[in-house]
Amino acid sequence: MAYKISDDCVACGACAEECPVQAITEGDGKYEIDPEKCIDCGTCADTCPVGAPKADA
Ligand code: SF4
Ligand code: SF4
Repeated sequence: MAYKISDDCVACGACAEECPVQAITEGDGKYEIDPEKCIDCGTCADTCPVGAPKADA
């Protein structure tokens, strides 16, 4: 399981700076999480101003 960034993302980059394992990179118009790297810590969700990162069930 990994977090996923929804289309609500406004590409501010805050989550990428806070991710402890550098799983977040800038994608096409929004940021993306590499599910192979994500350790499910939730920091990106806590950091995001628009609540775009969601736990992917
Ligand atoms: Fe990075 Fe944690 Fe967000 Fe996964 S849940 S992308 S490890 S900040
Ligand atoms: Fe997108 Fe939220 Fe990350 Fe900013 S903090 S890049 S809005 S997911």
